[in-house]
Amino acid sequence: MDHFTYRDGTLWCEDVAAAELAAKFGTPLYVYSRQTFAGHFARLREAFAELDPLICYSIKCCPNTHICRLLRELGSGFDVVSGGELFRALRAGADPDKIVFAGVGKTEREIREAFDANVGLFNIESESELEQMIDLARECGIVANAALRVNPDVDPHTHKYTTTGKKETKFGVDLERAVEVFRRHARAESVRLRGIHIHIGSPVCEVGAYARSLERGLHLLNRLRGEGFAIDTFDIGGGYGAHYQHNETPMSTEYASVIVPSLREQGLRIILEPGRLIAANAGIILTRVLHLKQSGGRRFVIVDASMTELLRPALYGAYHFVWPVATGEFVPQSRDADQPFDGLSCCDVVGPVCESGDFLAQQRDLPPMKRGDLLAVFSAGAYAMAMASQYNSRPRAAEALVSGQAARLIRRRETYDDLVAAEDVDSQ
Ligand SMILES: *Cc1c(COP(=O)(O)O)cnc(C)c1O
Repeated sequence: MDHFTYRDGTLWCEDVAAAELAAKFGTPLYVYSRQTFAGHFARLREAFAELDPLICYSIKCCPNTHICRLLRELGSGFDVVSGGELFRALRAGADPDKIVFAGVGKTEREIREAFDANVGLFNIESESELEQMIDLARECGIVANAALRVNPDVDPHTHKYTTTGKKETKFGVDLERAVEVFRRHARAESVRLRGIHIHIGSPVCEVGAYARSLERGLHLLNRLRGEGFAIDTFDIGGGYGAHYQHNETPMSTEYASVIVPSLREQGLRIILEPGRLIAANAGIILTRVLHLKQSGGRRFVIVDASMTELLRPALYGAYHFVWPVATGEFVPQSRDADQPFDGLSCCDVVGPVCESGDFLAQQRDLPPMKRGDLLAVFSAGAYAMAMASQYNSRPRAAEALVSGQAARLIRRRETYDDLVAAEDVDSQ
């Protein structure tokens, strides 16, 4: 479990006891491990080293500026999908040349902000957007660099809400139309259309899906080059999996073993946009047991974290491993629900929010628990705080970053005043 380990019957993040973090910063609490972020980033970079790619951390998966700064220090660029994410990247000190800006509905304001920031590459999602950008760039007297996001029509066999590379999704331009778009617009002076972008979904646990989409992408690139277009960039997106349950996803080296051979010696600058692979297992949520109850033949563990801290189970039916922080003899053998112990009982771990969909885990065999016990929800570094809400007027939880023996708050817990701050509009 990366740098979240059980030692002496209790959970540690690097060299800090999880219980100490909960006592110091309260619960629910997001806890991140610096070493785990760095380790995942380093393994990815190493696996793809031969291509010398520009790695652009996908901010949306874990957007805290301290995390962005950490990634910047590791040498990462950034994949942003909104003006707000661009703002975060710049605050983290990003080199604008290493920022790529995607998104199906960029507003004029966001495009102007990105021009002002001098971002390295725009990933264009439609012909209409390209036309708008050509006009705006001309008006601003700048030359923007862009890649056209194409839709390779490959099914990555992931959840339908996180499939982005099939024809019927809203993302990118069909392969057939892409050639037309280049013919019509690639000679515009204010936007240099210099490559293509593909991002097929997330998580993509089947390396073959990358192989198929890259093959289609390369076919298109060669055709475009054959027509005389100056193509030098291939942004192959993100979507690399993370382990939530067993070791169910390929390692960086396995993705690379399929991707690298097809892209070497193509004379292309390669861009990767990993998010989940870097962040998912670099974070957990600590939550406290509020109550235990039985109802309708089910046993409920009611905790102080909920769908407002982790929406993924409610939104996608996602699995997150949950286990007590103080385990006694029940030291978990893996992130799998199947643990080899007697004395476990089947429980639903649920939050206080007024929705039946508000659960963190269902039908899990867990050790005996009592009120006040701490639980850890694993693999909560990506798409957890990023999707947090204040639903039921719950102030958002704090985030802490651990490095070795040091732990610091990187986002304070919101207050009731934060809940209403933006509603104080009387004076305006
Ligand atoms: C979300 C997203 C990513 C990152 O996806 P992960 O599964 O977190 O790696 C990369 N590129 C684009 C365009 C995205 O929208």
